[in-house]
Order: sequence, then C-alpha cells, then structure tokens
Amino acid sequence: MKAGANTPPKVGFVSLGCPKATVDSERILTQLRAEGYLLVGDYASADVVVVNTCGFIDAAVEESLEAIGEALNENGKVVVTGCLGAREGGDFVRGAHPKVLAVTGPNQAGAVLDAIHAALPPAHDPYTDLVPPQGLRLTPPHYAYLKISEGCNQSCSFCIIPSMRGKLVSRAPDDILREAEALVAGGAKELLVISQDTGAYGVDRKYRTAFHNGRPLKTRITDLCAALGELGVWVRLHYVYPYPHIDELLPLMAAGKILPYLDVPLQHGSPRILKAMRRPAAAEKTLDRILGWRQAVPDLTIRSTFIVGFPGETDADFTELLDFLRAAELDRVGCFAYSAVEGAPANAIAGAVPESVKEERRAAFMAVQEAISRQRLQHRVGQRQRMLVDAVGRGGKITARSASDAPEIDGVVHLGKVAGLQVGDWVEVEINRADAHDLYGMVVSA
Ligand code: SF4
Repeated sequence: MKAGANTPPKVGFVSLGCPKATVDSERILTQLRAEGYLLVGDYASADVVVVNTCGFIDAAVEESLEAIGEALNENGKVVVTGCLGAREGGDFVRGAHPKVLAVTGPNQAGAVLDAIHAALPPAHDPYTDLVPPQGLRLTPPHYAYLKISEGCNQSCSFCIIPSMRGKLVSRAPDDILREAEALVAGGAKELLVISQDTGAYGVDRKYRTAFHNGRPLKTRITDLCAALGELGVWVRLHYVYPYPHIDELLPLMAAGKILPYLDVPLQHGSPRILKAMRRPAAAEKTLDRILGWRQAVPDLTIRSTFIVGFPGETDADFTELLDFLRAAELDRVGCFAYSAVEGAPANAIAGAVPESVKEERRAAFMAVQEAISRQRLQHRVGQRQRMLVDAVGRGGKITARSASDAPEIDGVVHLGKVAGLQVGDWVEVEINRADAHDLYGMVVSA
C-alpha cells in the first residue's frame, strides 16, 4: 500500500559499509522517524528504498551496485547515498543504474532527506503536527523569504562571508519549488528570493536538470524564476549582480511572471574602486546594462547599495560615483560608509579615508540620490497600481506596498483610513502624492 492521507509514508533502508556509514544511516533514520516516516524491513511494503553504499574496495563496490540493482528490481524507487555515490560526482552509480531517483555522497543527510521528501513527502497531520507544512516563519503570513542557495564563489575584498559560509551551494530547484508551493498554500502572496549571489544560482550544480511534478527543470535562475512565476504570487529578486544572463529575466518581468524589480548591490561607480573591491560583474558595462533593462521593462524598479570611503577612494573616484548615480537614476538606494571587517583583504589596501571624509561623502551621496528618488516617485503620481496591504494601524489607517517596494527596506504607500481591509489583502490604488521615500494614495477597489 502506498502512502495516503492516513497512512504514514514507509521507507526501506539498506546500510552497507563501515561504521562511519552506519552513523550516517542512523542520522538519516532518526530524522525520518522524527518526521513521521515508518521504517520497514522489506522491499514490498516500502514506498521508497535508501541504499547507503560503500566504495572502499572492488568487492564493496560490487556489493553496493548489486544492492542498488536488487532494490530497483524489487521496489523501483531508490535513493543512493554513501561513498560510492560520491564517485565521479554520482555519475558512476547513475551509469550503472540510470533509474535511481537521486545520488548523494557520504555525510549528506540533508541531501538524502531532500531526495526522500521529493519522492515521498512526509505526511502532514494537522491534528498532531505542531508545525504547519510551510514551517514556522518570522515574517507575516503574506510574504516570505525563499533562500535558493548558501555561500558564495566571489571574493569581494571587503567581505568575509565566503570564509564563514563557504562556497556557493545551490538548492535543488524541485526542493525550492516545493517550499514555494507550501508557502503559497500557507497564505504567502509574495516570495522574496534571496541568496548571497542570486544570479549565480546553479553554477555549482552545473545547471543540472531536475524534475518537478514530472517536468524537467534546470538548476538555473531563469528556469527557476519561470517556474516560480507560475505560482500566481509576487516573486521579487534580491542580490542580483549585473551578469549578462540576467537580461534573460527581463521577458519574465515584461510578461508579468515575476515582479519588475531588481535589487542589484552595485557598491560603486568607479571602475578603479570596483576592481579594488573585486566585485563580480565589475567589468560589465553596468550603466549600459541598466539602460537596456529599462528599455525592455520601462516600469522596472532598481534598488541598490553603495559603499563610500573605500580604501584608496579619491575625490575623482567619488565624483565618478556621483556621475554614475545621476546617469543610472536608480529608484531606491542605500549608502554605507566603509568600515573595516576583521579578516577582510581590503584592510591591507593603502589609502584609508578619514572618518570625517567618509561621512561627508555619504551625506553628499544621499543628497544626490534623494533628489533622484523623489523625482522617480513623482513620476508615479496619477498611476493606478495593484498593492498588497502590509499593516492596519490604529483607527484603521492602511499601509500598503506596491510592486516597487520590498518589505523592510523600501518605502511604503499610505492609504489613510479604509474600513474592512486586512493585512495581506490586494487593493487597487490610485497614487496621488509622493515624497522622497513614500507614496500616498486612495483605494479605488479592493
Ligand atoms: S559581498 Fe561579494 S563575496 Fe561577499 S557575499 Fe556578496 S558577492 Fe559574495
């Protein structure tokens, strides 16, 4: 019998190899049991079988391959893990047994569980489970962050994140989509895609093809965004560097599949400083790229962050930064005065900028940007836009957000007192006023 609404999903487990493999098996089994899976001792009653392999000597390899073959013959749904799974990046096992569902290496309990969840989702019982299917979240129910990868392959000279979080590790796209679907089912109307370097998604997995609901899906940002765009909610992208392939996302924005919004941390406008910062995509013609994006999607909102006072930044570099800012006409911008992070290579760069100069430059930068932001918001006065109610204040004062505003970091839209609205409602708003940060409008339909 297969797992249904009231029957717990059943997993068979074959554990081969040394005590280290046994400990890996124990971890996986413990987690499976904690998630409500039943562990069974025969192929026939299992819904999926895990084979933890050994790859130490030829005899162990043979035994592992035989065990996988037997599980495939007797059951058909097989997840492979362990030392043999690591050989040739999994291709050795796939070459011998192409029908296995997934291949992972030793000490990868998380990846094994992901593969089991994909093949056989854990049963959810709302009467006994304390955790809802979408997990516990710190954000309000109507929006949620969706982390698509961890770590970073870049080596920006002011940053120590790669040394703390390691190289880029992208999640499997089917795993991300299952989480996204659970979030939407749990009430999320906006998904905020985050990572350290969103455009690099999938590089580490060599853009491998996975399957979601029987459809092939590449581990690639464009393909992932296209799939997320089918969920019927707002999809907003953060931490996107201006790599050439980001241009491929613009048609998805123009078609209304994902929000016309890009959070692109540019950090500077002087090529010399960008080089010293060792920024990704620094060599690309960023200004041309931004202008091209705007041509493709005129209502695109671009948010960015910058650092002033980086070691070696001269008056000429700063002037170049301000020129860039004026030419780029970004919508939302944050600016930080450079501060040394212990362990960052930038600390060794000569030409530390005095704190007072950093602050002067930051104030000058923000004055230039404020005028730009004000003007860009002013252009939106008179427009009608669909918005999401973010807060209902005392006395029924409504605060909403438009597609151009990410929660917490961008501006909001003040709608005054409107009866009958709740957080998470969609409203149609006519914008009638703007300042440098926020918009003001009235609800025309709810
Ligand atoms: S600042 Fe650079 S190195 Fe640090 S996480 Fe971002 S892209 Fe990676």
